[in-house]
Amino acid sequence: MAEFRVVRGDITRRVVDAIVNAANSSLLGGGGVDGAIHRAAGPELVQACRLLHGCETGDAKVTPGFLLPARWVIHTVGPVWRGGGNGEPEKLARCYRRCLEVARETGVRSIAFPAVSTGIYGYPMEAAAEIAVRVCREMAEGCGVELVEFVCFNEETAVVYERLLGRA
Ligand code: ADP
Repeated sequence: MAEFRVVRGDITRRVVDAIVNAANSSLLGGGGVDGAIHRAAGPELVQACRLLHGCETGDAKVTPGFLLPARWVIHTVGPVWRGGGNGEPEKLARCYRRCLEVARETGVRSIAFPAVSTGIYGYPMEAAAEIAVRVCREMAEGCGVELVEFVCFNEETAVVYERLLGRA
């Protein structure tokens, strides 16, 4: 069984094989966790991203982590929340699936996820975390991933993940 951890704090500090970036479709940087990752990785990250020619919602693409402790960054583009009737749950599930597929192809054994789409993109936290936990439980082990960290930027988010993982 893969190990699941809830971690409080800044994803850019995580010492894992790969951290996941909640990017926008340009992959050229933005606010929130995306901005923090680009600042911490240094300017080579945006240069590497340019070569990827963007990323569709629900897809994921990998770059090196450059100055980050993590060796890789897996960039995924979550859906913008538009009320839930526009395929948002399927698109968010696909983000987590694609990240784990890219992790498998890259040989990643430990991965840290932020709560994709729950910041600027407005996805309700609890519903998003439920999808994250479900897809990672279904797929992590089959993708060769031994450790999944859910990195929570605030305490409320951490409490939700702890409960979904059956620990609260
Ligand atoms: P999105 O556009 O996908 O909503 P955001 O970056 O706005 O992406 O937010 C996604 C989640 O990441 C939010 O829950 C936000 O609180 C969290 N977050 C922001 N900065 C960091 C960080 N440095 N480390 C971990 N999580 C972060």
